[in-house]
Amino acid sequence: MFANLTIHDTKLEECQGLYRCAWTSFHIWKHSSFQDRILYMRKMRSLIVAHLDQLIDIICADTGKVPVEAVTADLLTVVDYLKHVEKHGVKALRPQKVPTPLTLFGRRSCIEYQPRGVVLVISPWNYPFQLSLVPVIAAVFAGNSVILKPSEVTPKVGAAIKRLIELCEFPPGVVQVALGGKDLGAELVKGGPDYIFFTGSVRTGKTIQQEAAKRLIPTTLELGGKDPMIVCADANLKRAAKGAVWGAFTNMGQVCMSVERLYVERSVHDQFVTLLVAEVEKLTQGSGSDHDLGAMTWPGQVEIVKEHVNDALTRGAKLLTGLPPDKWDLSKGLFIPLMVLVDVTPEMKIMQEETFGPVLPVMPFEDIDEAVRLANGTSFGLNASVWSSDLKKARRIARELVSGNVVINDVIISVANPHLPFGGVKESGIGRYHGEVGLQTFCHQRAVVVSRGRRKSELNWYPYRGKLALFKKMVKLLYGRKR
Ligand code: NAD
Repeated sequence: MFANLTIHDTKLEECQGLYRCAWTSFHIWKHSSFQDRILYMRKMRSLIVAHLDQLIDIICADTGKVPVEAVTADLLTVVDYLKHVEKHGVKALRPQKVPTPLTLFGRRSCIEYQPRGVVLVISPWNYPFQLSLVPVIAAVFAGNSVILKPSEVTPKVGAAIKRLIELCEFPPGVVQVALGGKDLGAELVKGGPDYIFFTGSVRTGKTIQQEAAKRLIPTTLELGGKDPMIVCADANLKRAAKGAVWGAFTNMGQVCMSVERLYVERSVHDQFVTLLVAEVEKLTQGSGSDHDLGAMTWPGQVEIVKEHVNDALTRGAKLLTGLPPDKWDLSKGLFIPLMVLVDVTPEMKIMQEETFGPVLPVMPFEDIDEAVRLANGTSFGLNASVWSSDLKKARRIARELVSGNVVINDVIISVANPHLPFGGVKESGIGRYHGEVGLQTFCHQRAVVVSRGRRKSELNWYPYRGKLALFKKMVKLLYGRKR
């Protein structure tokens, strides 16, 4: 089913046709029942499970990641999300009764969720399957038609998604996949969708937001991160060291929520760094299924990692594992080494800008106030973790962190619970997906008030003559009490 995939790039001139088709299909699809939509979700889920091996191969070949990560972070997340939507989607989107105040006596009120229209989804290359399909599934389930533009860096995964959508046999135009690069993305944004769901870099997110603002197109922006991990002296240090290594190096650090800065309480700093180095040295790197780490996905990202590591080394940082960039051997692929860096300072690029590579810079902190100040000291706010055996203290620290997601004594994993909303603050993004809000995002909330229509008139309608005293009395009676 997924063999011999052809990658046919969408021409810019085709964009208008995609929109015409999407708008036509939207007006039919929005009337489909949730039960019908669930059938498509089930079909997609069973197709993914039935072709798991082929999809793993395509994802690994296109991204350089190891097979375990193709399954756990790209494929499992999608089938889990499909199942979640099948079970909980209707509840999130059915009309919700809300109380009606006494002042509106005789009416009933509810919120209805109305699909927005044509949703444009633009996705990145690091989890190309998951980050394309999860928003597509949510938007389609909510009754929208969707145009998806996956990343040009992972074109085979884009073509596999296109094939998967064909196999699902959605009505024509409900989900269309356009393959191509930045220019195509920009052209699709200009095409005037009703909603844009973008996952990618801060730079592109800002460009898209500016273009969307011209027509007040609402957006969700899922952008970059520089996630801090705070390890207190009373943490389970062995667990924290293993967690830090996985959190920093999974998918070769090409994760918006990976641990990009590690702050360790000074009294245990040296002991912790020794544990970290020992954990890193146990890992193996290569392309087979037994390896822990694969290669970087594309040369552009390798250059950014090089720049950040070189900047840190020039300013006095030291590598405890791995090699400086001038000694990397890239002759067999983008297999750059895993780097633990110490003697870093907050101004270095490695502590401020998103590196998106296998680098773990470690810094000591004196007290909780300093840890919080350092952790909050970047323009990002996607995820963070706090490690302590005193859960009350950990929760207290977590509450001080300016971050869309916080994990205690664990890393990254909040994104794996589809009941939880996911998204960033500051330059990490705008809006949320996953959870109930992640389905409602793809709808207009419509306020509905219903009166039985039996009374001739309402108190607040004309004429006003003789009503002033009555309304004044009502205000005093209803709102005059202190409590
Ligand atoms: P990118 O911004 O370069 O590209 C993302 C997508 O946008 C691609 O499909 C690209 O073709 C398209 N694009 C580029 N310029 C465009 C334009 N002017 N108009 C419309 N579309 C355009 O990002 P990337 O390098 O593919 O992905 C890595 C980034 O994504 C990292 O910053 C990472 O943190 C972020 N990311 C965020 C999340 C999250 O959920 N917050 C998840 C994964 C990745």
